Amino acid sequence: MTGHATTQSQPTTSYEAAAAQREARFLEALQAAGLRLTAQRRAICHYLARTDAHPTAQQIYEALKPQFPSLSLTTVYNTLDVLVRLGLVYALGGAGDRAVHYETNTEPHINLACLVCHRVIDLPMPEVGAWRSRVAEASGFKILGARLVYYGVCPECQRQNPADDNPPSE
Ligand SMILES: [Zn+2]
Repeated sequence: MTGHATTQSQPTTSYEAAAAQREARFLEALQAAGLRLTAQRRAICHYLARTDAHPTAQQIYEALKPQFPSLSLTTVYNTLDVLVRLGLVYALGGAGDRAVHYETNTEPHINLACLVCHRVIDLPMPEVGAWRSRVAEASGFKILGARLVYYGVCPECQRQNPADDNPPSE
């Protein structure tokens, strides 16, 4: 077996393995911070470990509320705050929607926010890792996260609105 037969690689499996690992880290962090691992907090960690959609707290709340009617927005915020303080989740800025979007991908990369559809996407950029070290060295900061957000209009929104050359101006 040379290993390059037509076997489809199984992104789902390795994705799930990585997600499970991330979820375990989140749960450990919450526990270490003295929070009880309630069903709601577990659900938030489960959700966060499996999204690359840069959700806002409100979006997380709305996604989980049907399954967890006793979930409160405060719990979502508290949980996010702990994860952000520990550097496991990054708090990005808004995407033209005045809401904080949360980043769960802590690999070096740039974020792009579309001011029209309010989506935030990742752009891998390994150089960012080197920058981080240089910033830490030059400042003495213990770096917990980064907000490297470029904003504009995504290709899809440009196609849908070709006349609109400029992003909304406020
Ligand atoms: Zn867009």
